[in-house]
Amino acid sequence: MAQALILQVVKSYKLNDLFQRVILTGPGLERLPENSGGLHIKLFFKRAGQQQLLLPRLLKNRHRQVRDEQPESNPPEQLSAELKPISRTYSIRHYDRDSNLLRVDFVLHADPGVACAWATAAREGDQVGLAGPGPMRLCNPAARKFLLIGDASSLPAIMAVIDQLPLQAEVQVIMELPKGYQPFIDCRRQSNISWHWLEQTFTPETTVLPLIKSLALPLAETCVAIASEHKTVLCLRQYFRCESIAKEYLYCVPYWRHRQNEETYHDQRHQVMDS
Ligand SMILES: Cc1cc2nc3c(=O)[nH]c(=O)nc-3n(C[C@H](O)[C@H](O)[C@H](O)COP(=O)(O)OP(=O)(O)OC[C@H]3O[C@@H](n4cnc5c(N)ncnc54)[C@H](O)[C@@H]3O)c2cc1C
Repeated sequence: MAQALILQVVKSYKLNDLFQRVILTGPGLERLPENSGGLHIKLFFKRAGQQQLLLPRLLKNRHRQVRDEQPESNPPEQLSAELKPISRTYSIRHYDRDSNLLRVDFVLHADPGVACAWATAAREGDQVGLAGPGPMRLCNPAARKFLLIGDASSLPAIMAVIDQLPLQAEVQVIMELPKGYQPFIDCRRQSNISWHWLEQTFTPETTVLPLIKSLALPLAETCVAIASEHKTVLCLRQYFRCESIAKEYLYCVPYWRHRQNEETYHDQRHQVMDS
């Protein structure tokens, strides 16, 4: 993975009660590929009380912790655990190369962690670190039909993906939102798309699964992407595997876990992805 960058906040504002949009810029950001919407990035945040943002140096999947300005030829000692930045995974909602502006949409969830709190308070000039993007897209573009299943955390990535799908593709979206929140659609596509909104109850077997079955989609030609809370991803992945959907038509990524923060969940997520 390429060296992490330091970015500055250009603007931060509430899109609605559920999302804070933060616009970022900085030197080196131009390395983002065209159409990078939907790809994931790592964001790095200062620890409480820290004056300076310290970034990890990323070498072939190994993380060596260095001060950003340290020259390559003089690798410093590793940062202690107290100095390592806090890392969270987010999605590129949109990147415009001409203006070098990156849009990231943060869910304002009920139990704000470091990332959510940072976004809420972000002001022009604040710094954040960025690594990535990662290579994985949420969809197989060869499919003719798409079923995209997510929640607020994946809505930015899903809308970015929808904007890139061929117009003739048929798209169904199942989106779970916390109780009391209104549907929110911010993508260009108007035709060949159906949105299904559900209240997020963490009981996918009685909510999302019956809805999926009722759609009776032809799985041989449908690409299914599930990007949501841990339990939902596991439940639905199990269902689609039993339905013998082709491996290259099934994308399953747990984005977070109810009642766990990223520190306690991180390793489990990788176990789920590996299994
Ligand atoms: C590939 C990928 C892409 C992602 N893209 C985005 C994105 O574009 N926008 C985005 O907002 N999130 C995105 N996420 C999810 C985000 O990384 C997590 O929600 C993260 O835990 C938020 O960090 P935090 O510091 O705010 O909360 P944490 O410190 O991790 O958690 C604090 C508390 O909040 C709860 N919590 C965490 N996330 C949520 C949530 N989404 N809804 C309700 N409660 C939650 C936790 O269970 C915990 O109780 C993505 C995750 C992955 C893996």
